[in-house]
Amino acid sequence: MEAQQSETKDKKTFLLEHDRPNCISCGACASVTPQFWEMNKDDGKSDIINGKHRHDEWQELTIKEKDLQCNKEAADVCPVNVIHLTDDDGNKIT
Ligand code: SF4
Repeated sequence: MEAQQSETKDKKTFLLEHDRPNCISCGACASVTPQFWEMNKDDGKSDIINGKHRHDEWQELTIKEKDLQCNKEAADVCPVNVIHLTDDDGNKIT
């Protein structure tokens, strides 16, 4: 049981969200974290690579703990704070 619990802990995930309607197309996220962010050629806004498009026009992607830091950097450079990270307990990180 204990082994199972520690295994679960190692597999902690985070929800990366993009408030796409409020993105101002500055390109900073794609510049610092190109492995997760790219610019959309059609409307000039950024996209989470392989992110799911939601009905509210936000995007989301579940990421692993190893990918948290680089996405925190993307959130930190976003001038309008439209990149959000939440842990799997629902605690807001950015
Ligand atoms: S840094 Fe923010 S505003 Fe700039 S492209 Fe990325 S999500 Fe959009």
